[in-house]
Amino acid sequence: MNKKITLLPGDGIGPEIVGEAVKVLDRIAEKFLHKFEYTTVDIGGCSIDKYGVPITDEGMALCKSADSVLLGAVGGPKWDNCPPSIRPEKALLGVRKELGLFANLRPTKLFPQLASASPLKESVVGGGIDLLIVRELTGGVYFGPRRTEEVNGELVATDVMPYSEHEIMRIGRVAFETAMKRSRRLASVDKANVLDTSRLWRKTMHRLSEEYPEVEYTDILVDNTAMQLIKNPSQFDVLVTENMFGDILSDEASMLTGSIGMMPSASLSSGTLGMYEPIHGSAPDIAGMNIANPIGTILSAAMMLRYSFGMSREADCIESAADSVLSDGYRTGDIMQEGCKKVLCSEMGDLIAARL
Ligand code: NAD
Repeated sequence: MNKKITLLPGDGIGPEIVGEAVKVLDRIAEKFLHKFEYTTVDIGGCSIDKYGVPITDEGMALCKSADSVLLGAVGGPKWDNCPPSIRPEKALLGVRKELGLFANLRPTKLFPQLASASPLKESVVGGGIDLLIVRELTGGVYFGPRRTEEVNGELVATDVMPYSEHEIMRIGRVAFETAMKRSRRLASVDKANVLDTSRLWRKTMHRLSEEYPEVEYTDILVDNTAMQLIKNPSQFDVLVTENMFGDILSDEASMLTGSIGMMPSASLSSGTLGMYEPIHGSAPDIAGMNIANPIGTILSAAMMLRYSFGMSREADCIESAADSVLSDGYRTGDIMQEGCKKVLCSEMGDLIAARL
């Protein structure tokens, strides 16, 4: 297959970790006889410095015309005081909107080799954690009408949380399809005992569940989910939820693994175009030192192959290569344990590429 990939390395450690993911993609192309064509676009602070905007119109067009987009991270202290209209994160929201990325997939996997990095007890995580949160990304309270006004001499702020049936149906379908590709268990998270949006969410999910009788479907309230993720995370496989609940729960879930450098994510549109990125930020404290952990970005590239290009075998290969490198005791500084071999960012990329 021939695929066009737009690379958005961004700021801080972004260029280093994206470089390692490209190394791995190149090895996959060689092994499976694919051709990956890359175009690199500036995004975030580096684009502000060069062009005065966090992404140019040409850059955005190159994201839209690609088969897929791989992002490092944006931002850093240098740009913290930029006006809100040109802040680095503005580019990310812009790309999500322009590409229609409504579904965010965040797998949380605790590699058994890294179990001691989890803040939870061995008795809770000993069985491993392997769950995936499907978060609605373009609706709900983050995009609803908002205002702050003076009422009876004091300020009153209001944020509205709208959800329409088609938005719920669309994300629900992604979740059911994802569950079909995993262990066919899906929990839908809502607050249907209080919120109208959640009652519509639940009703719509139930309708959809009739189309997927093979999927074992359950409803769970968001407050209980927050508790269960700490008490017994291995009970979950795929979780689906609305934008704000997903924002909070996915950060909670990623922390169960204790290693932010390991976690990938995917943001998907209704077609095959997606944007793939590690969940961490630009880590300005270690930028340019070649010590960042590139595994989250490499696993994001694996998700790109699986979800945008339908290359499951290739994605499996990358995931097992990363697993095998960890089993052999190689670690970047952030996940270093006693008795393991400490390697640089570029060495980790080389090791994973060499296992493919
Ligand atoms: P961060 O994730 O960049 O860093 C938090 C801590 O984790 C730091 O100590 C960092 O060194 C470490 N870390 C992160 N990724 C690592 C990796 N791959 N390997 C080893 N260690 C790693 O979060 P922050 O410090 O709150 O934010 C820094 C900047 O990144 C800010 O400007 C923030 O706005 C931006 N940010 C961007 C994104 C994004 O681009 N999607 C996401 C979050 C934060």
